[in-house]
Amino acid sequence: MQLSDLRNITGEFNNSARMPVMFIGHGNPMNGIMDNPFTRALSSMGQDLPQKPCAILVISAHWLTKGTHVLVAPQPETIHDFGGFPEALYAVQYPAPGAPELARETKQLITSTNVIEDDHWGLDHGSWTVLKHMYPMADIPVFQLSIDYHQPPEYHFKLAAELKALRDKGVLIMGSGNIVHNLRQVVFTDNAKPFDWAIAFDETVKQKLEQGAFTDLVNYHTLGRDAQLSIPTNDHYLPMIYTLGLVNKNEEIKFTYEEIQNGSISMRCFKTA
Ligand code: ZN
Repeated sequence: MQLSDLRNITGEFNNSARMPVMFIGHGNPMNGIMDNPFTRALSSMGQDLPQKPCAILVISAHWLTKGTHVLVAPQPETIHDFGGFPEALYAVQYPAPGAPELARETKQLITSTNVIEDDHWGLDHGSWTVLKHMYPMADIPVFQLSIDYHQPPEYHFKLAAELKALRDKGVLIMGSGNIVHNLRQVVFTDNAKPFDWAIAFDETVKQKLEQGAFTDLVNYHTLGRDAQLSIPTNDHYLPMIYTLGLVNKNEEIKFTYEEIQNGSISMRCFKTA
């Protein structure tokens, strides 16, 4: 496919600006209906963009598949993919339209694997609990790309790079997970004291992001005990690898939020400046 083919979909976008790429640490689903420093920061992250995206592509920790799927649903369902939360959270809807044509063009952009069109998935809570604060009107088309959970981190880093052209066409691409995410160690009290290893690994990642040392972050297995405790499974870490794969050389990283919630969840968010 040629880039010119994308123009049909994103023709209204002013080509002078490249969309930043973002990583969001989404944490507890309850953030979807809370008003706290994190959710207020999300709201700013939406408003601070130079222009409104023509569509949003989310790579969420909560869509893990065999093979890579792209969401082609014209009206994605709001998925409440969690258990044991208050009724008010299940009542939330995020009725953004889908972006089936753009999703199919995204499939064409990816040549390293045969992307599967999927109209069954919807917007999982990695998407809507965040977008509800960033774009409460739900008037921007949203689609998702799944994470092939059978593939190593390097695979995801390379696959993400194939999506770069979308940034120039007005698509906001967002990885949604958590850099430090250890649910076994979670402390369910407000203002829980962060674990030392969580603080240390979050700081290590911050420094590596500032240095552009992305290869170290892809090879997180080599980063020692703090990394092991912070990434017991890599479902929430891999969305960050997608974000990194989309950063261009000489782009700077700007941190848009930082906090450790519940002792063992890093809420760190960042974007390209
Ligand atoms: Zn999550």
